[in-house]
Amino acid sequence: MIVRKSPAELESMARAGAVVAALHEVVRAAAQPGVSTAELDALAEREVRNRRAVPSFKGYRGFPATLCTSVNDQVVHGIPSPDVILREGDLLKVDAGAVVDGYHGDSAATWIIGDSASDAVRDLVEATRAGLWAGLTRARVGGRLTDVSSAIEQAGLAGGYGVVREYGGHGIGRALHEDPRVPNYGRSGRGPRLVAGLTLAIEPLYSLGEDATEVLADDWTVVTVDGSLSAHWEHTVAVTPAGPWVLTARSDEPAWPLAEPGADARGLDAVEAG
Ligand code: MG
Ligand code: MG
Repeated sequence: MIVRKSPAELESMARAGAVVAALHEVVRAAAQPGVSTAELDALAEREVRNRRAVPSFKGYRGFPATLCTSVNDQVVHGIPSPDVILREGDLLKVDAGAVVDGYHGDSAATWIIGDSASDAVRDLVEATRAGLWAGLTRARVGGRLTDVSSAIEQAGLAGGYGVVREYGGHGIGRALHEDPRVPNYGRSGRGPRLVAGLTLAIEPLYSLGEDATEVLADDWTVVTVDGSLSAHWEHTVAVTPAGPWVLTARSDEPAWPLAEPGADARGLDAVEAG
């Protein structure tokens, strides 16, 4: 069942999204060579709780941490550990959620540790980020769900990347994972109609090799089967009459990517106008 949100509910989700955005900025600044992923997790949890929010992932199906930290060939769901010390050139994927007023925000980012990464790795990270924005800007009233899926897949394949099919996006709201599933592949023009108040976590995962993944013995950490590096970006997005509202946008990103220049931050007026 797909649950549309009211403007008041979107406002709560935007507050949750702002907490997640702040968390990512704190973690990004701290993600340096020599720092452990457990240290990043502690920082993130403190940031969330200082903002009177609750981590979405901690305790979710028994997951033990605030962050998923997935390094290099780890795709998603890596568990923070004091034994995982970040090194120069590592590719760190940080995925996190927070709950405010009972509503979740969910967002992921990929950071290069230090500054010695190859051009191929930088291109992977940027292509995956571009794939996210290609997908989320298709989250428009009147479209269909797989318009998002298709944009993500086409952008990845055009760059020659593996587009991971076994994980993808999802509806989000009172639950971290709601209907519908948002595949990162498929022909456009299919699936549920995109209507105002629909809230989706959109999250492309590209790799430098094949798209196949497997789960490690810890029952959480997902890796590429061929050991290739992967990247992951995610935002929580609301479909509104004024275009997609990126509820988890960080300070260097537009919350309203399809708004006219200078008309950013249109807020709930745009939602209610519809
Ligand atoms: Mg996530
Ligand atoms: Mg998600």
